[in-house]
Amino acid sequence: MRILVVNDDGIYSPGILALAQVANEFGEVRIVAPDVERSSMGHAVTHSRPLSYRRTPILGFEAFRVDGTPADCVAVGFSIWEKADVVLSGINFGVNLGNSMWHSGTLAGAKQAALMGSRGIALSAPTTRDGPDFERLKPHIAHVLKTVLPDPELNLVNVNLPDDPQGVMWTRQSVRHYDGKVVPSKDPMGRQHYWFTVFPVEETEEGTDRWAMDRHYVSMTPLRLDLTDHQALASVQARTGKLL
Ligand code: MN
Repeated sequence: MRILVVNDDGIYSPGILALAQVANEFGEVRIVAPDVERSSMGHAVTHSRPLSYRRTPILGFEAFRVDGTPADCVAVGFSIWEKADVVLSGINFGVNLGNSMWHSGTLAGAKQAALMGSRGIALSAPTTRDGPDFERLKPHIAHVLKTVLPDPELNLVNVNLPDDPQGVMWTRQSVRHYDGKVVPSKDPMGRQHYWFTVFPVEETEEGTDRWAMDRHYVSMTPLRLDLTDHQALASVQARTGKLL
């Protein structure tokens, strides 16, 4: 099995090395990752300038750093290494639960794989004072890969690992809304600036990714690329007809 490992924290993140080390037990690994951190840029792609990559071997792994986004890295990786059987994206410094899936560069790496007809698994862990303890997480990551990789129905999975996993749970995406305000402040020169903030405005729903993580379970959410609201579509078609 050919495994392409990507992330959004940049190629020198310890999270990508930990993931590559676990992935190495499951197949042939290559790392293709952004040259600098590209967190929270979602599924951005670079279309107004060319991309380039440089070979950057890391502790025995064949690795390439790309001057682009996580989605770019997967596209470039698939071009220089034909297609991989699966893309593993992470391990991200910081969880990617619920609403943050819309902003996540980590998840975008996995989504790009699914868009290109491969499979993608995104993995994230909370940042603690000392960062995620990757050595402690490694057996749990191996457990996740053992579960997901043999199942062809699972094309795109978002995984979050608490720092002390008590088990693994299948979950759905939390859709808890947030206020998303930009809070004004002043820089040291007295100039106005703004911070984007995320404060949830709803409770955590049972069975969701956030709910599992609150209970110290590894959360695994199968996702799909189809954003269509099938229920709303059927309902509106029933009311107005398919042709207006
Ligand atoms: Mn990140």
